[in-house]
Amino acid sequence: MNTPQNDHYIFVNEPLPYPFDAMEPFIDIKTMELHHDRHLQAYTDNLNAALKGYPTLQKASLEQLIRMAGRLPKPLGTQIGHNAGGVYNHRFFFAELKNPGGGQPSGELMTAITSAFGGFTDFVGELEAAALSVFGSGYAWLVSDGNGRLRIITTANQDTPLTKRLHPILNVDVWEHAYYLKHYNKRADYFDDWLSVIDWEKAELAYSHIGKFR
Ligand code: MN
Repeated sequence: MNTPQNDHYIFVNEPLPYPFDAMEPFIDIKTMELHHDRHLQAYTDNLNAALKGYPTLQKASLEQLIRMAGRLPKPLGTQIGHNAGGVYNHRFFFAELKNPGGGQPSGELMTAITSAFGGFTDFVGELEAAALSVFGSGYAWLVSDGNGRLRIITTANQDTPLTKRLHPILNVDVWEHAYYLKHYNKRADYFDDWLSVIDWEKAELAYSHIGKFR
């Protein structure tokens, strides 16, 4: 999901591959701008700041940092875990948005969704229930285990599926900063709008990459 040249210290908050108004009317321009230029920027800056005095850790990739954060001494490990997770989760979220988007996936991913959840409508219902169940801040995810089986999970704050040995396919950011300006406290309305801007081709690509390691 990340370009190799921006997968190590010094991390750069690359511009989005689309304008801030690209997801209108589903996700508003101001939310997209603040979400990328303030929130993701802050995670990026704070990750760089945490790594500043640690040349060995600076050689680690973003995913390696996330996996090792829990074993590092505190508060360093906590700072790296929160901020590397924030960078990873946001990059993942922004990368799988497209307008016009939505609809349904096809190919292997659709087959796997049908097999795991009974059908696409049932899958969407389960994902929405998961998204609404997040208390406070976090994400709902479609993930695959090492055998290619799909599951829906939630993560709190900036935790990632990577530390649970799960492979992300799709995520929806349900922090209030992701929707409050347009949808106020109506997370379900935001979820319904987000369904219209999912880039299923990117999700299919994420799923097919996991397949290589099966
Ligand atoms: Mn966010």
